[in-house]
Amino acid sequence: MSTIRVSSLTHSYANEQALKQVSFETASSGVIGILGPNGAGKSTLFKLLCSLLEVQEGSIVIDDIDVTTNSKLIKKKIGYLSDINPLYDDMYVREYLLWISAMRAVNSARIDHVLTSTGLDVMAHKHINELSKGYRQRVGLAAAILHDPEILILDEPTTGLDPNQLEDMRQLIINLGKEKLILLSTHIMQEVEAMCDRVLIISQGEIVADQKLDELLHNQQQIVIVEFDYRVEEAFLSQLEEVCEVVNSDGFIYEITFDSETDMRAVVFDFAHSNGLKILQLRRKNIGLEAQFKNLTSHT
Ligand code: ADP
Repeated sequence: MSTIRVSSLTHSYANEQALKQVSFETASSGVIGILGPNGAGKSTLFKLLCSLLEVQEGSIVIDDIDVTTNSKLIKKKIGYLSDINPLYDDMYVREYLLWISAMRAVNSARIDHVLTSTGLDVMAHKHINELSKGYRQRVGLAAAILHDPEILILDEPTTGLDPNQLEDMRQLIINLGKEKLILLSTHIMQEVEAMCDRVLIISQGEIVADQKLDELLHNQQQIVIVEFDYRVEEAFLSQLEEVCEVVNSDGFIYEITFDSETDMRAVVFDFAHSNGLKILQLRRKNIGLEAQFKNLTSHT
């Protein structure tokens, strides 16, 4: 089973720092989502992992091999689908894969297996320029797995796909993740929810969260919406334990954000009671992953 160890990785282009002290380790197969807004540094991280960019500061060690010492071996271990997915439009699908297999010195007998596993059998004799975006992505994925790498790095693999294509691509990735270690980048939270076991959130070149998906789902903040029978000062409500924010959303309605897993409605109820406040309505809503992502990556 492949492992990746990234330590204090820092990378700059001209005057811009794209990655700052990025560190993480992987320990098993499965799908790791690298989630971040555009420009966060995801592609830069991937190019460094694939040895397509030179490491400037910090280190990347894959299966005890430093990428700077043996980039050839690293390229054998990794399959890479770039965000651009460059293909030769005037080639046929099978012809293109044959060409890649020759370049990578892979036995061409694997092509049939890869065509089947990516659902491309029926398209094998089509010109690449005749294919839909969904099938083009599959060709890119087929090319990336042709040499049977242990690690797959997929840069925004689902961007631009329609809902059906999206579902097919997700399923392909989930299946591949049963045997391989997959790192995929996206700026869409739902993609992470649908496919990933673990999430690294990256913002302005820094890792701001590294959690298993179920932890991220579990650690949700909650909002308690409470309506009193008259106006209450926000500062007064801010005295409640674990409060992050109090917003007077409408009339005498307040949205109180808590950083706690326990249901805070009972706490609000007791607080109101002990301060002689009457409650007209009281309900709880969880903050979605989308909002968590926004909180972690917004810099305003
Ligand atoms: P993401 O993949 O998350 O969108 P990138 O790694 O592509 O982010 O970019 C991170 C930052 O580095 C951005 O500010 C981007 O403008 C900059 N950048 C990326 N590639 C280059 C390059 N070849 N030359 C100069 N700046 C770059």
